Amino acid sequence: IVISSMTLASFTDTKPKQMRKFPPHDDIEKKIDSLLALMTLEEKVGQMVQYNGFWDVTGPTPKGGNTKKKYEDLRKGRVGSMLTVRGTKEVRAVQKIVTEESRLGIPLIIGFDVIHGYKTLSPIPLAEAASWDLEAIEKSAKIAAAEAAASGINWTFAPMVDISRDPRWGRVMEGAGEDPYLGSKIAKARVSGFQGKDLSDPLTVAACTKHFAGYGFAEAGREYNKADLGTITLHNIVLPPFKAAVEAGSRTFMTGFNELNGIPVTANKHLLRDILKKEWNFDGFVVSDWASIEELMTWGYTKDRAETAVRAANAGVDMDMEGNIYIEELAQMVKAGKVKEEILDEAVRRILRVKFELGLFEDPYKYCDPEREKEVIGNPAHIEAVRDMAKKSIVLLKNENNLLPLQKKKQTIALIGPLADENNSPLGSWRLGSDDHTGVSLKTGLEAYSKNKINYAKGVELVSNDAQFTKELHINTTDATGIQEAVEIAKNADVVIMALGEHGFMTGEGRSRTNIDLPGLQQELLEAVYEVNKNIVLVLQNGRPLTINWADQHIPAIVEAWQLGSQSGHAIAEVLYGDYNPSGKLPMTFPRSVGQIPIYYNHKRTGRPVDPAPGDEQVFWSHYIDEENTPLYPFGFGLSYTEFSYKKLQLDKKEINNNEKLQLSVEVSNTGNYDGREVVQLYIQDLYGSIIRPVKELKGFELVNLKKGETQTLSFELGPKELGFYNETGEYVIEPGEFKVFIGGSSQTSLEDSFSIIE
Ligand code: BGC
Repeated sequence: IVISSMTLASFTDTKPKQMRKFPPHDDIEKKIDSLLALMTLEEKVGQMVQYNGFWDVTGPTPKGGNTKKKYEDLRKGRVGSMLTVRGTKEVRAVQKIVTEESRLGIPLIIGFDVIHGYKTLSPIPLAEAASWDLEAIEKSAKIAAAEAAASGINWTFAPMVDISRDPRWGRVMEGAGEDPYLGSKIAKARVSGFQGKDLSDPLTVAACTKHFAGYGFAEAGREYNKADLGTITLHNIVLPPFKAAVEAGSRTFMTGFNELNGIPVTANKHLLRDILKKEWNFDGFVVSDWASIEELMTWGYTKDRAETAVRAANAGVDMDMEGNIYIEELAQMVKAGKVKEEILDEAVRRILRVKFELGLFEDPYKYCDPEREKEVIGNPAHIEAVRDMAKKSIVLLKNENNLLPLQKKKQTIALIGPLADENNSPLGSWRLGSDDHTGVSLKTGLEAYSKNKINYAKGVELVSNDAQFTKELHINTTDATGIQEAVEIAKNADVVIMALGEHGFMTGEGRSRTNIDLPGLQQELLEAVYEVNKNIVLVLQNGRPLTINWADQHIPAIVEAWQLGSQSGHAIAEVLYGDYNPSGKLPMTFPRSVGQIPIYYNHKRTGRPVDPAPGDEQVFWSHYIDEENTPLYPFGFGLSYTEFSYKKLQLDKKEINNNEKLQLSVEVSNTGNYDGREVVQLYIQDLYGSIIRPVKELKGFELVNLKKGETQTLSFELGPKELGFYNETGEYVIEPGEFKVFIGGSSQTSLEDSFSIIE
């Protein structure tokens, strides 16, 4: 039978607006039944294959050996998806091949890493997490989706929801930090932002929640490493954001490069089938990470390509990303009885379901409108929104003597540092849809903002601007000759702004570090400038927590500005001049020293105290002999130009049973001199339990805008969803016992009260 894209109309909905429904849409399921009945084994395998699109798909005869094979495979219906095909012209070209030349004409689903924006870039995800602003984060994902979808893309490989406690790992920049509660809320916001209410809306894309699971616990922060995780940490810390993403309707999941407790997650049946597909009822599909099926052999988990295909398919990986294992081996393995055909039917059903929901069968070119592409991408409203997101992501770490906000009066400013005049680094890692060097540098931002004279000196080199994916990443120049010029301009300045940190390419995939100090000669530069002028505002731009003890001890003002995307410089300028009062709070602990890692706020007690009794000389308590236990800046921490005070923490009951809810309220006042915004955080401590419980756990937060002098009462609720935990068998339990509750502006400062859960 030859079914052209015309005949395929019979499989499509005539009323596109009704495409996406939860629970499963009966109509779609029937269409899938009909389509599956027509498919050969090879065509079924084809839907499970994803090819990379870095090749010339627009020409009539694609060039190059591999390219030719890919073209042939598309024509034969042996490919179900492509990734990193850019722009409507190219997407149209590949869709045309499959829909017009393959036997069944099934459209491709086009994937792309839209991690923090497509063309208009938002802050890196870790920075966005620092805003704790779920609405703004959802909006940022929505904009990213609209721009990507206008460029022909149907599917983003985001959000990354991997919790991590290890800032050595370069991919912490892609996640929401260390906390499962905040991480779950953000996972939901991002999935909702990308997918909208109706996936057939051409301004939305399907989300892909990744990397399932445990990748953020790669040992020693070394990329692609193994993760040993007990049931308790897995269920209480790692899995919650993934579960939240399923609840928010995430249509796809990606596995990871890591192994978990001895089994690579790309072959982990327990995770993929038992938990994700069965327990959580996930009805979308699972894609491998890039060649992670093939890597089962490199791990030493499988001996050859055939066994590799069997393991991955049986474990529940529905699509093979650029691994060439399924396309080469899977049909054979079905014939040999090693993989049941039902496994393929199930995988194909899941993939087709998402394609139907996206409306690709109605019109494979619906995402390929060059007019819309022009209109939507880089739209001024998008630029405004990412600027707003950028301001909200900034965290004020220190502000002595009210050095900030900068006065608007006439004064001389020295702007120093390798990131001061950078328009590439602020874009951060993962910006495949955007052009390089399109960010607003801090220098440009400051110049646009005030007429104050700015003297600029770079001081030292960080890495070359064009360091992406090259060994230059490891070259921190050792040339100190520029330091003198920086010192000279600092001498005569009223204020020195120093822009230091990590180049945007020093975090992201494959960017693990053993030392998380200021790289290169930046520390030397900072100290030399400090010798001649102590009035320094240090603006950090980085993609992970850094160890900046010296700066914390000496520099009066420190602003964490991450990598803030396209509008970086403008956002920082607005904050430095006080037109936006900083409100961000750290989503990840800043250690004092790399030796403290992993260090995180929701740790457990030990059998020994963490502080010795006064006057106690003994050494046998839980500590280091050369460093404090406490972090430099804790999770949830961030200052404002104003002050907030907390009063009257009230609980409506002192005792509840395990299915009851507790209402809490607290009065928060702005007692300082500026209007401001506070992230009010609620933590609990379960004092004892059948498993050891953390010293603190975030269980709620609210953003509140307070004018100076204003007070507001905020309410919170704690119930079964917040008060239980997963025990050593992975079962959710709510145990009777005593709890403390804390409300405040960080994980360390708070009002405190207590309550009990009774039998
Ligand atoms: C990354 C994924 C990404 C994929 C496709 C992999 O190297 O781990 O997160 O989505 O590449 O670009």
